[in-house]
Amino acid sequence: MTTCTTCPYCGVGCGVIASQDGTIKGDAQHPANFGRLCSKGSALGETIDLEGRLLAPMVGGIETGWDEATALVARKFSEAIRDHGPEAVAIYASGQLLTEDYYVANKLMKGFIGAANIDTNSRLCMASSVAGHKRAFGSDTVPGTYEDLEHADLIVLVGSNLAWCHPVLHQRIAAAKEARPEMRIVNVDPRRTATSQLADLHLSVAPDGDVALFNGLLAHLAASGRVDRAYVAAHVNGFDSALAAAYATDAVDSGLSADDLAIFYSMWAGTEKVVTVYSQGVNQSTCGTDKVNAILNCHLATGRIGRPGMGPFSVTGQPNAMGGREVGGLANMLANHLDIENAAHRDAAQAFWASPTMCEAPGLKAVDLFKACADGRIKALWVMSTNPAVSLPDAQGVADAIKNVPFTVVSDIMARTDTGDLADVLLPAAGWGEKSGTVTNSERRISRQRAFLPVPGQARPDWKIISDVAAAMGWGHAFAYDSPADVFREHAALSAAMRPFERDFDISGLAQLSDAEYDALAPVQWPVPEAGKGRARFFADGGFYHPDGKARMLPVTAPAPVASGQFHLNTGRNRDQWHTMTRTGKAPRLGTHLAEPYVEIHPGDADALGLGTAELCVLSDGKNRAILRSLPTDRVARGALFAPMHWTRQRATRGTINTVVQTGTDPISGQPALKFGRVRASRFEAR
Ligand code: SF4
Repeated sequence: MTTCTTCPYCGVGCGVIASQDGTIKGDAQHPANFGRLCSKGSALGETIDLEGRLLAPMVGGIETGWDEATALVARKFSEAIRDHGPEAVAIYASGQLLTEDYYVANKLMKGFIGAANIDTNSRLCMASSVAGHKRAFGSDTVPGTYEDLEHADLIVLVGSNLAWCHPVLHQRIAAAKEARPEMRIVNVDPRRTATSQLADLHLSVAPDGDVALFNGLLAHLAASGRVDRAYVAAHVNGFDSALAAAYATDAVDSGLSADDLAIFYSMWAGTEKVVTVYSQGVNQSTCGTDKVNAILNCHLATGRIGRPGMGPFSVTGQPNAMGGREVGGLANMLANHLDIENAAHRDAAQAFWASPTMCEAPGLKAVDLFKACADGRIKALWVMSTNPAVSLPDAQGVADAIKNVPFTVVSDIMARTDTGDLADVLLPAAGWGEKSGTVTNSERRISRQRAFLPVPGQARPDWKIISDVAAAMGWGHAFAYDSPADVFREHAALSAAMRPFERDFDISGLAQLSDAEYDALAPVQWPVPEAGKGRARFFADGGFYHPDGKARMLPVTAPAPVASGQFHLNTGRNRDQWHTMTRTGKAPRLGTHLAEPYVEIHPGDADALGLGTAELCVLSDGKNRAILRSLPTDRVARGALFAPMHWTRQRATRGTINTVVQTGTDPISGQPALKFGRVRASRFEAR
């Protein structure tokens, strides 16, 4: 027997047909992938064994029952709230959670505990895009669709190694280019990657040179008469100030030659159907939000948005980063894309939930949340389905911060992770293939994840674990769900209740689904105001979500290039691994691609350090060290390094790269600058 479900890895959200015997195929009917899969997706069947699984609740390292563990978590959280206030507790969640899990966690924290200290590893993924969208559109709306990539005449991939990080989208683009050789692709990335191989032009932009690049493009569009003046007059505010900022920018600060700039600007200006895809190279920066708005400015100035084959397109890293945004799983958002700072929005959510209290201000974003753990403000912490002791910057500082919290709970599928090893209580969560719910991919398409395996041991789905703790805290009446379908219907009904606020997110048409209809739900793009009627594209009518219905262009300034004498450290993903390898690390064939932690270094820099290929290289931020194999390659520029983020302390002693990445964040989005570390490098010398 086979089951149609959705891949649990990246934000492409591919449809998968799975069997209990581990056979995995791409779903030819799913509109994200039409049967394609990448290496990670096709190896899913090799990751569903029970080796290393957490199969029972553990308290202080001793196996216990659910009743005892649930009561303990509820009591510790209740005591922390009673003694120190609701701001003294926190949840750190994950883009791995299903929408139903996320919805319940957000409801518990914001509507019942009454604080907004729930943030997520999606902060590391797309928070700058969220902030940029809200500044430009008045809402966190992704306007594009995957089909736009196939209809475009020019695709610009900025800070995005699509070939490794969103492989099926890359396959779709490659197929489209093969069918239409006149399609042009530009790859903007300091590093030459597998994605660059498909590009007609690779622009090795300087680290954080993107604002200078796109401000220069805006100035070029204006100077060459390519601005759509009628569109701007009808639909956009802020053009003059944005253009003034662009004129004040020196595009040379992008690090590109005058010739490369001229070629790129001419291509972009002269092509109506252009899609600009951007990802973590844009978002994970101290100026990530400004980079996003520099890109959006160019699309708004030309009216190249809301029509087939054109528009800006932020692709999400995680399988359910978009679903987390829908339910308000970020510390600065309410459910349904509403605003915590807006009293009417807060009142409406509280009335819908009939909750005793409501958060009144944004909570702590990821990096600040763990700083609050370090300085003693957080007394009880719940980490759900993620491994911040490896994945956050200053990973050792984060591990020390978790140790400093008086009571920490980790719910996860695995018995041992770097973060779980620090917990007082471990709660066994059901994994992919064992639980049911929905996820939303980068193009706003809601798809079902369906169970096809028995739930092992005492594991439970996250929505159930959270609801039981909420009930034990005294709120059982509001968390009496029998199934994920129950949770989803409430999520959709909340969206119906919020319609007076006229936001983009609307799935009210799904609020009346029966259990059978929920189970059979076909992939659908929101908004879904009526059953069976999704909508692929936003902004086709030129209407945006600021009060006057117009979009805004933002005046953004390029950061001045900084010479520090240190190496610039870029971190990212490998083709065949996912995050901290808890699942992909189980598949031997995925491990054969790149088996050890490594650092890419320019051959000239390697020579200067006396480093040969595969010799040990020490990276230091002055506080911590990481030791990795050197991989000399001219894919990186002089003075630049690249290292993957996957290896944990458990898998490779001193191979955890985020121990040497600093905690700088974008001041607007709070997204950490994981791609902009500063380190010293040296050859490892045995003592
Ligand atoms: Fe899974 Fe992403 Fe690969 Fe699709 S592209 S199979 S969603 S990892």
